[in-house]
Amino acid sequence: MTTDATTSPAPPAASDFIREIVRADLASGKHQSVVTRFPPEPNGYLHLGHSKSICLNFGLARETGGRCHLRFDDTNPTKEEMEYIESIQTDVRWLGFDWGEHLYYASDYFETLYGWAEHLVEAGLAYVDDLSAEEIRAHRGTLTEPGTESPYRNRSIKENLDLLRRMRAGEFADGARVLRAKIDMASGNLNLRDPVLYRILHAAHPRTGDAWCIYPTYDYAHGQSDAIEHITHSLCTLEFEDHRPLYNWLIEHLPVPSRPRQIEFARLNLSSTVLSKRKLLRLVNEGHVAGWDDPRMPTLSGVRRRGVPPEAVRALVERVGLAKREGTVDYALFEHCIRDLLNRTAERRMAVLRPLRLIITNYPEGEIEELEAVNNPEDPAAGSRRVPFGRELFIERDDFMEDPPKKFYRLAPGREVRLRYAYLVTCDEVVKDAAGEIVELRCSYDPATRGGDAPDGRKVKATLHWVAAAAAVEAEVRLYDHLFTVDSPGADHDLADDLNPDSLVVLAGCRLEPALAGLAPGTQVQFERLGYFAPDLDTTPSRPVFNRIVTLRDTWAKVAAQGG
Ligand code: ATP
Ligand code: MG
Repeated sequence: MTTDATTSPAPPAASDFIREIVRADLASGKHQSVVTRFPPEPNGYLHLGHSKSICLNFGLARETGGRCHLRFDDTNPTKEEMEYIESIQTDVRWLGFDWGEHLYYASDYFETLYGWAEHLVEAGLAYVDDLSAEEIRAHRGTLTEPGTESPYRNRSIKENLDLLRRMRAGEFADGARVLRAKIDMASGNLNLRDPVLYRILHAAHPRTGDAWCIYPTYDYAHGQSDAIEHITHSLCTLEFEDHRPLYNWLIEHLPVPSRPRQIEFARLNLSSTVLSKRKLLRLVNEGHVAGWDDPRMPTLSGVRRRGVPPEAVRALVERVGLAKREGTVDYALFEHCIRDLLNRTAERRMAVLRPLRLIITNYPEGEIEELEAVNNPEDPAAGSRRVPFGRELFIERDDFMEDPPKKFYRLAPGREVRLRYAYLVTCDEVVKDAAGEIVELRCSYDPATRGGDAPDGRKVKATLHWVAAAAAVEAEVRLYDHLFTVDSPGADHDLADDLNPDSLVVLAGCRLEPALAGLAPGTQVQFERLGYFAPDLDTTPSRPVFNRIVTLRDTWAKVAAQGG
């Protein structure tokens, strides 16, 4: 990809192999309208990977005037919680999508699914197996060797039906028996070697309570739920490609009301992070992060809390596109999408993160004047604001060096710099405390340079941001870095060993210009020269807390130029 292509706007989601299939199905009259679904298992919070599936399923429905269902795949009662069900709905809405009336649960279909299980038994296409999970695994064979038939495979239909009903009635212990489809133990596809359809699990379900003690497997529940809902295109990730023959076998042999088509696409993988609920749950449970919505987490609730706008997540998904080949997307592309958006939309403000006091000795004591500052140079409509200026200011500690090396053009003894929107100032004196630490700079300003330019045309090499002490708002600012130190966390070490110990830096005593007080949550701003920031949930009326969403320096162009 060339640098040029990375800065041009993303192409419309015009064409990919799935959209072509869908368009052809509509054109040929195979379907009058498109029905898709997003089918999360409520066993964790949604992550950036899920946004690919959400944007695809809801996007297709929107583009074609069809509809997209939100269906909770709640077939595993032991790992599922109401908290997840609620967070998933919040996250899908936040991303900009809506299922309208079409909120469903696989558990709504338990009775129908069970009835179809009896149907398979009666057709001689399913049997109750007494082998343990371990024995079933051992009988399964390998990719090169066929499996072995269970000694229980040839039970009579009558005995199977009786056992299945007694399984449902709760007569047997967990794991004592399973219901399996009777397909082909010698199939080249392991998924067709008599896959398990039902397991015994005496566990309360968040929605069906104690009504059931047998639960359908994913493979059995998923396609049938699709068919019940008249899903036309069942879009899933590539790991289900090998399950498609089973998906189709079940649809073929059951009295389902429709025949959905499963199509697989490559999942989204991002470098420097993990997109797996299981791994993210571990980070939460082991306390490596503060929770699912920790701003370092690649969860939708994490990036939302950090301040990332949903448009940037959608832009990422669009830029990545749809393919049938697995790959890992550089995290820098996500950051690029965020900057690209916020550069256009975020208003500029001044904030000093590591304050160093600067006194303008020739500025009248007690006087405050207001200077005009542009809100967003990319957007004239954003207008301007007035920023207070006075004798006592704060500048960034690392914008001053007492003994500057070559190429350090910012403030130093005897040197003149520009204070953004204000005046040119010269450093006359450095004040230190007893420990030798610099505590204050004493400067003089040139009153003729109001606005930042000298009438005699003399140039300065640096422009610094600043905040007037008298009007400053004190705040905490949280700086984030990658949660992991490596591109593929957990690939060569235990996941926990790849954690970045410096992924969070908390700065107290930061000083903000007054316009940053009371900023509404979900509002993004650029702190000039520092990055894009947004207020965190921990903000209180007396103490703002800001998260750094992303720095200003875009590394994506470099990555892209290297062919990344
Ligand atoms: P995880 O591995 O994080 O548990 P999952 O696939 O088990 O993910 P589900 O709740 O089953 O999570 O996923 C709901 C939908 O989101 C599925 O259709 C799944 O294919 C899709 N999905 C999950 N992860 C990704 C990803 N990284 N990229 C694209 N789609 C994804
Ligand atoms: Mg899953």
